[in-house]
Amino acid sequence: MSPQLLLIIGRGILAALCYWDAKKQGLSETYAYGLTLLTFFFPVFGIPIYFIVRSQAHVIKSNNAKLPTRLCPKCGHDNPGNLNQCEKCQNQLTL
Ligand SMILES: [Zn+2]
Repeated sequence: MSPQLLLIIGRGILAALCYWDAKKQGLSETYAYGLTLLTFFFPVFGIPIYFIVRSQAHVIKSNNAKLPTRLCPKCGHDNPGNLNQCEKCQNQLTL
C-alpha cells in the first residue's frame, strides 16, 4: 500500500470517528456532517475546530433544548419563546 492511500484511509477513519462522536455528543446532523467534511478535507484545521465545537456541544445542545414555547392565549398557537407576538393571529404575547 502506498503512503498516500494509507493517509486517505486514515483521514476517512478520522472523519468517520468525528461523525460518530459528534452524533454521540448530541450535535445535529448538520454539525456532524460539517465537522466530518472538515476533518476529512482539512485535517490540520478541522481537528482543532472539531474539538472547539465539541467542547461547545453541551451549549449548542442546551440552547436547542431550552427554547421555551409560548402558547397564545387567544388562539392556542405554540409560538417560539423569543416572539412577543403570536405567529398565527398576531396577538400580543405577555409574559
Ligand atoms: Zn394566536
